[in-house]
Amino acid sequence: MRLPSEKKGWLVYAVAVAALLSVAGLFVTRPWDFTGWDEPELRISSGTFTGNLDSVLKAEGLGDAERHGVSSALSKKLNLRRLRPEDSYELVFSTWGPLRSLAITKDLHLYSLSALAGGGYGLSVEAVALREASGKLSGAITTSLWDSMTAAGVPPAAILDYADIFSWSVDFLTEVRSGDRWAMSWDYKTDPAGKVVAQRITAALYYGQETGRKAAAAWKDGYYDEEGQSLRSMFLRAPLQYRRISSYFTNRRFHPVLKYYRPHQGIDYAAPTGTPVSAVADGTVTFAGWKGGNGRLVMLKHGGGYLTTYGHLSRFARGLKRGRRVAQGDVIGYVGSSGLSSGPHLDFRVKLNGTPLNFLKMKYRSSGGVSGTGRRAVAEAIRRLGD
Ligand SMILES: [Zn+2]
Repeated sequence: MRLPSEKKGWLVYAVAVAALLSVAGLFVTRPWDFTGWDEPELRISSGTFTGNLDSVLKAEGLGDAERHGVSSALSKKLNLRRLRPEDSYELVFSTWGPLRSLAITKDLHLYSLSALAGGGYGLSVEAVALREASGKLSGAITTSLWDSMTAAGVPPAAILDYADIFSWSVDFLTEVRSGDRWAMSWDYKTDPAGKVVAQRITAALYYGQETGRKAAAAWKDGYYDEEGQSLRSMFLRAPLQYRRISSYFTNRRFHPVLKYYRPHQGIDYAAPTGTPVSAVADGTVTFAGWKGGNGRLVMLKHGGGYLTTYGHLSRFARGLKRGRRVAQGDVIGYVGSSGLSSGPHLDFRVKLNGTPLNFLKMKYRSSGGVSGTGRRAVAEAIRRLGD
């Protein structure tokens, strides 16, 4: 039996149980077990660390020597300066005063400190048991993918995973329209407080007016569509990547819906100054510097005769220079308004053997696939999600 956290009714319950047990003369093993101690009643206090441990102990009336004893015993296994509001504690006192035990839950570990009969404290550490579950979530979009998924209860990390799965075929920053629908099935783990601490999306669907229907399911370490084609491709759908941008904006409590324009043979992505810009494919830097009206410009050479350029940057990624290899998704610079530009935006262009291409119309090419069992499993997972 484990002490449940943050239950307000627990104190009443504990007192009632303790009274009952003492009447019945029973003995039960509990995490705050004081073997051999006759404890008729208990006082329990629990909460999360809005202040440090010392201030909690002080507020509970512990004297200097007792606080020092508790802190030095705990600090053998736990960095007390790292306690945060998401970490919880439970203190158990005997009704006649002294602290009997203290339990702290942090980073999926339970630290149990208990007063020893002969004086001093014993400390044990164990992993917190996680609950595993599976489920399906779905929704319709009115403003952004982020808002819709958040409203449906999808945690931020899973939203980014979902966007990653389709990052070669859907630009969730510019191609989302009101009325689009999404669905996902997932396996996840929750901590005792109910917070999702790990997840894996097993299948994903997107129905977009701009994008059409997109489907994916996990097989081994990749995602595939019903035909068994890998979701991976040589080019990302956009140089402004959902994961990079969301983490950039999450810190600023704002989730942008970006726009793009096609005033020339490239694409202009309107985005705030400082927005991270990613390489759309693996490649080599052939130019990183100032180039007339382009301002700060990065040019990348890719396989198969492709060249991509990223203009008007406010700055380059650290260490970026000619000859440097970059991987797909790497940040190469940041949106700006350098050169001839009327406002912050990314000027993005693609050429194949010197000829400009319409990047948005380029044919999506899968990087591989699965057949047989894998293909059947993927098709079945997608079909079940769509039901
Ligand atoms: Zn432009």
